[in-house]
Amino acid sequence: MPKFLSCLPTKRDLSDESLLAENGNTKVIKGCTFCDVSVEKGFGVIHEDDGLIAFHDRTPRATIHLLIIPRLHEVSSVRQLTKAHLPLVRSMINVAHSLVPESPPPKMGFHIPPFSSVPHLHLHVFSGEHTFIGKLKYPITGNRRQSEKGLGWFVTAEQVEHTLQNGRTVGLGRGSS
Ligand SMILES: [Zn+2]
Ligand SMILES: [Zn+2]
Repeated sequence: MPKFLSCLPTKRDLSDESLLAENGNTKVIKGCTFCDVSVEKGFGVIHEDDGLIAFHDRTPRATIHLLIIPRLHEVSSVRQLTKAHLPLVRSMINVAHSLVPESPPPKMGFHIPPFSSVPHLHLHVFSGEHTFIGKLKYPITGNRRQSEKGLGWFVTAEQVEHTLQNGRTVGLGRGSS
């Protein structure tokens, strides 16, 4: 994939599921960048609770560019989300709203594999103006109601919520599968 599509370009590709290690209830992928997020590791962590961690993207593509992740490696991407994950998705959205100004309205969404650089579910949150590359990398498309995703590799949090609510899953095509 083109280098600019990678949100953390220096990191290795960790898609090998065999790296999965289970520690009691704690699902951690050995070597997964996002299973190991902490201030000590150099992340700009601004929120932590039992379930979620929020931190500044290392390569901001807007005035404020945050990533919100589940602490545990529950799913690697938006494609694996089902209706059962709606509470998780909603908690990610709620944390996002608590961390950025309400005006102008923040934009938020997920990459769709194969256009996903770190295979640990992460919500991108943008506040303020996108940079030039940010506009290319996180294009927001959709149908007239904006509740169904358009063609593309980026899906908004609202589109994901709507899709899961209807018992479907998110894919690269228009709408969902
Ligand atoms: Zn990303
Ligand atoms: Zn992980």
